[in-house]
Amino acid sequence: MPQRLRIPPCTPASVPVPPPVAPGGRQVGLAILRGLMRRCPRCGIGESMEGYLGVRRCCSQCGEELGRIKADDGPAYFTVLIAGHVAVPILLMAEQTWHPPLAPTLAVALVGMGLLIWRLLPRVKGGVIGLMWALGLKGDEVQGDVERHG
Ligand SMILES: [Zn+2]
Repeated sequence: MPQRLRIPPCTPASVPVPPPVAPGGRQVGLAILRGLMRRCPRCGIGESMEGYLGVRRCCSQCGEELGRIKADDGPAYFTVLIAGHVAVPILLMAEQTWHPPLAPTLAVALVGMGLLIWRLLPRVKGGVIGLMWALGLKGDEVQGDVERHG
């Protein structure tokens, strides 16, 4: 009979960290800001992300379990929303001001959007993880859970 792989619980490091936050007392803005910096939404010291888009299972400083939070498509949605709101006004202003030819404009716009999305996506994912952490969401809730828990 194969043995099940046992994943050890998250344990905090010996570094002093802020005391645990009560579920109702989490600051949403602070958690999002820490997430945007790819830091743990609880302590702001440890890293919340690993690699390009991976979420660390545990914070290396306070031991907060972050790997259980599943952001799914939220970060991609918000990243495209932000990048579009940056790129479209620039394109419209360039068109109104210089009337550039279409092909080079599209080439520059596509490369620029790709670079912008590439740089924004990991930070936006950290921000979404921070938001979900602050709201106590894991990403597997169904509509009834959200209505019951506010
Ligand atoms: Zn932490």
